[in-house]
Amino acid sequence: MVESKRVALVTGSTSGIGLAIAQKYAQMNYDVALNSFEPAETVTGLVADLQAIGAGRVAYFQADLSDAAASRDLAGQVIGHFGRVDVLVNNAGIQKVAPIEDFAEDDWHRIVAVSLDSAFHTIRATLPGMAQRGWGRIINIASAHGLRASPFKSAYVATKHAVVGLTKTVALEAAEKGVTVNAICPGYVWTPLVAKQVADQARVHGLSEEEVVRQVILAPQPTKQFVQPEEIAEMAAYLCSDWARSITGSTISIDGGWTAK
Ligand code: NAD
Repeated sequence: MVESKRVALVTGSTSGIGLAIAQKYAQMNYDVALNSFEPAETVTGLVADLQAIGAGRVAYFQADLSDAAASRDLAGQVIGHFGRVDVLVNNAGIQKVAPIEDFAEDDWHRIVAVSLDSAFHTIRATLPGMAQRGWGRIINIASAHGLRASPFKSAYVATKHAVVGLTKTVALEAAEKGVTVNAICPGYVWTPLVAKQVADQARVHGLSEEEVVRQVILAPQPTKQFVQPEEIAEMAAYLCSDWARSITGSTISIDGGWTAK
């Protein structure tokens, strides 16, 4: 596949799904802007590994997306460095599990800021340039929880539903400008975050890790298999192809049948 030269910004890309998408774009010889809240010196190895994958350039932009000012500045910094952003993947997201009456206000605001507000800021900063050049791709990593609810995840479910609403709205605004805007809605994906939950839940429930996976974590996922980060990355690559130019305003479920129920 011959790919045109593109610049991609992937938020929250030092781990899990974001990292897999960044690796895929590096394979496609895109210039890749990585982001996380971690200090730059902790990710030099990761940047070098990505740089070695393809012919594009790789740079890291530290920004804690729970902070509105940092969130507002991120895309501008990437545009300052690479000249433009053609592909924006809003991937950064965090989780907190608690009944609503015990849900700390700070946790609520932090989840909304990282998952939703940051997407608002990055889209505002990058859409005008994409529209001017007549080509762009915005991919928001929502969740099956953008389409369905589970108890004790009020902030996560509310923000992921809101990300879906934001996706549809911006898709309509950008429809005639060569820019597509879509939400990928994964079910449970095997990432370091989930691996840690398995170990924690096994301890709490007194179950084996296999039992936790089948009976607790994968209970809503009919395939009873984790989605792999690379499956999300392949979809993120496909959405950047010209074959995907008519896919916009869509929620694309990769959830092992979860939302078929
Ligand atoms: P992860 O924890 O492995 O990676 C999250 C990334 O976001 C990391 O690079 C982390 O450094 C970064 N990040 C966290 N807080 C940040 C902040 N304040 N500022 C900047 N960066 C920050 O998580 P993951 O499982 O790969 O999840 C990625 C996205 O996919 C999230 O939006 C998540 O909600 C969504 N998702 C995950 C699953 C799953 O099962 N893993 C399922 C559905 C949706």
